Amino acid sequence: MWAMRFHAPGDVRYEQVPCPQPDAGELIVRIGAALTCGTDLKCYRRGHPVLLKDLPSAFGHEFAGEVVAVGEGVENFHPGDRVVCANSAPCYQCFYCHQGQTNLCEDLDLLNGAYAEYIRVPARIVRFNTYALPAHVPDALAAFCEPLAVCLRGVEESNVRPGARVAVLGLGPIGQLLVRAAKWKGAHVTAFARNAFKRETALRFGLADAVVDMTDGLDVEAVRQQYTPQGRGFDVVIEAVGLPEMWEKAVALSRRGGTVNLFAGCKSGTSIQLDTRRLHYDEITLLSLFHHTPTYFKKALSLIAQGEIDPSPLISARMGLAELPDAFALLEAGRAIKVAIQPRP
Ligand SMILES: [Zn+2]
Ligand SMILES: [Zn+2]
Repeated sequence: MWAMRFHAPGDVRYEQVPCPQPDAGELIVRIGAALTCGTDLKCYRRGHPVLLKDLPSAFGHEFAGEVVAVGEGVENFHPGDRVVCANSAPCYQCFYCHQGQTNLCEDLDLLNGAYAEYIRVPARIVRFNTYALPAHVPDALAAFCEPLAVCLRGVEESNVRPGARVAVLGLGPIGQLLVRAAKWKGAHVTAFARNAFKRETALRFGLADAVVDMTDGLDVEAVRQQYTPQGRGFDVVIEAVGLPEMWEKAVALSRRGGTVNLFAGCKSGTSIQLDTRRLHYDEITLLSLFHHTPTYFKKALSLIAQGEIDPSPLISARMGLAELPDAFALLEAGRAIKVAIQPRP
């Protein structure tokens, strides 16, 4: 089969590799669509010690498609079923799983390899985090379950309530889905980005109430005055850029008693400076969330299937497998939110 494999930063190759065969409990899924993701772009630029271990490595993790083969013992899926699979599944046996923190499972078993004609889905993901698709949900939309699950968890754990003043900093794919998820919760959302196309997308798709251009920086006091009642700051601030200066600004934008969700990871080794007086006397809650759980993945699928959240405006282009580098170029130029990679267009 054809696959796009990662050889080194900036070097992905369209190659023939052996077709995967299913072991016990596994599925082989023919990829209908795989979506580009911010993490993929980061990996493409600078590699990844955890996600892309043995080089050349399979690549891509947001996908949906059709089951073409099932391993021994698989009972609930059959060839011909259309499915969406999460890129991980918790073990339900480790300390963290026992605490209910399944997103922190010690053995998440992250799956890569969606930029290919077929993918082998490990038994644990088949068992705990694979879902049959209703006929009316196309593969490219179903593939949004993973990033949407992350964002639903993001707004839920940040205590986004109806009417809350929410700020979302950064409007890449995750920022866009955070805006939309916060609107779905009934919040009043102000969205921040430098890129005009992304701000416009946040209004059109995300239903943001206001957008702020950060091209010339972010004047915290001016923003508080203009976009929050009595200039007191936002009830919830979610940082979706992943830069230390933005983490600091996120805290500065919060109201007293507010919640700040530092959602986008910075480069390893990054530090930030915070005023401890403000944290303490203004009682700011800081969160920094990672990944998703099967509960949110299921929720994401049901919102997409019911049409409550329609992510299709975020698909800026559709391309074949071999064009993946072009898709990354489009993302780097800030002219696309997500690209749907379809091995059989
Ligand atoms: Zn992703
Ligand atoms: Zn576990």
